[in-house]
Amino acid sequence: MKKEKQEINPLAKENIYKNLENLEKIIGYTFKNKELLRKALTHPSFSSDYKTDNYEVLEFLGDSVVGLIVSEKLIEKFPKKREGELSKYRALIVSEQGLARLARKINLGDFLILGKTEIIRGGRERDSNLCDAFEALFGAIYLDSDLDTTRKIFLKHFEKEIFNILKERKIKQDYKSYLQELTQKYFNDRPTYKIIEERGPEHQKTYVVKCTFKEFVTIGEGSSKKNAEQKAAQKMIEKLEAYGYSLKNNKKENDENQKEN
Ligand code: MN
Repeated sequence: MKKEKQEINPLAKENIYKNLENLEKIIGYTFKNKELLRKALTHPSFSSDYKTDNYEVLEFLGDSVVGLIVSEKLIEKFPKKREGELSKYRALIVSEQGLARLARKINLGDFLILGKTEIIRGGRERDSNLCDAFEALFGAIYLDSDLDTTRKIFLKHFEKEIFNILKERKIKQDYKSYLQELTQKYFNDRPTYKIIEERGPEHQKTYVVKCTFKEFVTIGEGSSKKNAEQKAAQKMIEKLEAYGYSLKNNKKENDENQKEN
């Protein structure tokens, strides 16, 4: 049997609109058409309970808007990277996890308009909801203003964060490559790895690897040679970062960029 949709009660409606003003303050943009903002935050679980629309079409549009802004920024930041590499970067940023992270920066979860079951399921915290509403929000801003305004708002809040996403994912995925990038950048040199110990029975061996770079030495242990190297590389990154050698260091990085340009 088809579920009968309810009218939204007037008090709830009033609350929804009041709450929208708080989000407008956070993002620093006042909508001409409040309906667009309300729609951008309305989850399908709400529109299946009540007589209203939801964010799905705005999400579809916002996906492109956010993708465009991020692409432009990546091209500007990495003028020498090829399309394949840029695509990988963009995919990391506009991934569900990536956009959910941006959404959390503006507390978007607090503003989602959710159906009852979705609230109970922890819908305000879920990456998929945050990512979708984030896209919808930027679709809505774009429709309410223009690309220039949308770009400015996006970059004002998230420019730093999108590059943090790239750096951190890279570190997480592969400390060894990250370390090599770091040492090449500042010293035009690379670290060396050496197994210094293998212990334990064949089926559960522990490997101990020594990583050496300049006067620095770190030790990593792991269940495989590769794991041990990763651990040692991770510690070496921490060491070098403590001395200010970091791919995250803005000042040094800006200097690098100027060299590149
Ligand atoms: Mn989506």
